[in-house]
Amino acid sequence: FFITFEGIEGCGKSTQVRLVAERLSRAGHGVVVTREPGGCPIADAIRAILLDARNSAMVPMAELLLYAAARAQHVAEVIEPALAAGKIVLCDRFTDSTMAYQGFGRKLDRELIAQLNSLAAGSIRPDLTLLLDCSVETGLARAMARINTSSAAREERFEQESILFHERIRDGFLSLAAAEPGRFVVLDGSGGIEETEALVTEAILARLPA
Ligand code: C5P
Repeated sequence: FFITFEGIEGCGKSTQVRLVAERLSRAGHGVVVTREPGGCPIADAIRAILLDARNSAMVPMAELLLYAAARAQHVAEVIEPALAAGKIVLCDRFTDSTMAYQGFGRKLDRELIAQLNSLAAGSIRPDLTLLLDCSVETGLARAMARINTSSAAREERFEQESILFHERIRDGFLSLAAAEPGRFVVLDGSGGIEETEALVTEAILARLPA
């Protein structure tokens, strides 16, 4: 069963992925936690290129193709084998992030992105996608706080973009969710960690095959 977590920066998805993984493991499920961009050595190397602030001159098309390359490797090396072994795979960002960031955010052709997404992901599609929705102000405030306190933040390229860029991404995610109501569940990510965890757990348990 393949579950993806999506949302703008600071929406809380990484925290929730960790918490829900612990909960499902305690309940006896075989769980694989992974993330994009990255998730395996080759894709992590591509992630480092993508998130390196020194590469901020990268053109959007090069960025799009690197995300696709990282995903092709990650799907083949991690996600596909884990699903074949009957695991629950929890992935922090997947194809919808590419549509939201490179499509709605950077305004690249969304038809082309859809094609690249299916090329890279092959037959693998999320069974469930949780969209943690919160306002851009809330998300960016959390992301800023994380960058000030975390040493891992050096690896992160903080989006030096306008609020409008992040608004386009949030709206993009919401319209993707509206277009595929069977796959998406939109959750309020503006509350506290435990509050959100309860929403996430409820959504997953309601859909997990028995
Ligand atoms: O999930 P996380 O916040 O760690 O994502 C890392 C960064 O990659 C984010 O800052 C996000 O803006 C960026 N990203 C992107 N396009 C994607 C996926 C992530 O620009 N398709």
